[in-house]
Amino acid sequence: MGERYDIAIIGTGPAGLEAAINSKIRNKNIILFGSKELSRKLVKAPKVNNFLGFYNLTGKELKNHFAAHIEAMGIGIVNERINNVYAMGDYFALMVNEKIYEAKSIILATGIEYTKPLKGEEKLLGKGVGYCATCDAPLYKGKTVVVVGYNNEAEEETNFVSELCGKTYYIPMYKGDYKLNSNVEIISHKPIEIVGEDRVTKLILDHGEIITDGIFMLRDSLSPSQLVPGLNIEQDHIKVDRNMQSNIEGCFAAGDCTGKPYQYMKAAGEGLVAALSAVSYLDLTKK
Ligand SMILES: Cc1cc2nc3c(=O)[nH]c(=O)nc-3n(C[C@H](O)[C@H](O)[C@H](O)COP(=O)(O)OP(=O)(O)OC[C@H]3O[C@@H](n4cnc5c(N)ncnc54)[C@H](O)[C@@H]3O)c2cc1C
Repeated sequence: MGERYDIAIIGTGPAGLEAAINSKIRNKNIILFGSKELSRKLVKAPKVNNFLGFYNLTGKELKNHFAAHIEAMGIGIVNERINNVYAMGDYFALMVNEKIYEAKSIILATGIEYTKPLKGEEKLLGKGVGYCATCDAPLYKGKTVVVVGYNNEAEEETNFVSELCGKTYYIPMYKGDYKLNSNVEIISHKPIEIVGEDRVTKLILDHGEIITDGIFMLRDSLSPSQLVPGLNIEQDHIKVDRNMQSNIEGCFAAGDCTGKPYQYMKAAGEGLVAALSAVSYLDLTKK
């Protein structure tokens, strides 16, 4: 087992990065999960005029400032997606496929997914519907699988799936150059509904349908209740108090995942508060 971190921060948008710099300033041993791109929402913003101190910047320019800031402070990003977080009593276990990271406290800064689940998705979750292709692909050896990918990171997972499964379909929910194995069939129709009783049987599209054994929905973020079982959710957001403390001791949240307004400054401010609360929690529990 590796080292146990003081604070694990999940998410590299403004909330997670602000949490990371403040935790580092307070001398905590941190680990930051996310991506080198930091946040797709940040990169996509055409013009940002409401981030104090940075007038008339594109999201990309703001992202470059953020990246330079954390680099100057020696904060690295672990480019992995956390699939589940389990509260183990005095620490948290963060699962990445077969790997486990341990931390005494966590800050969830995972943003919010604008796309709603497909009809039938929640009912059939764990019954043919999954959110981590790498974790579950071996269950579909020789079978048919559909991957619905919301970003190009899903392509790598799809290629892995295609090495094990009998037939792999890929439905990209974005435009781009798809780097996929030649045996992956790309479908350019919109998924509408997942159908099945005890298990998934098919995916209905806006034109036609696919008979399949499994469907992986690979979005930017999981719903927080999927990510952290037992988390108190209110109207699709993580319920927190003014200290950004969730209902689980040692688990804090910041940014879009805690509620509206969805803005950079609000996200960063909450990241700061969450970090200071995590520091107080660690000092009080002296673990
Ligand atoms: C086109 C567009 C323009 C916008 N313009 C503005 C603007 O001008 N001004 C403004 O204030 N706001 C704007 N916003 C809103 C702003 O982007 C969000 O409010 C802000 O990015 C929220 O920050 P966050 O840190 O909470 O989450 P995000 O920026 O969404 O970052 C979350 C990060 O967590 C990562 N993540 C999620 N789950 C996991 C996991 N399980 N493991 C590892 N990593 C994970 C995601 O990949 C992502 O990198 C805009 C949004 C869009 C889409």
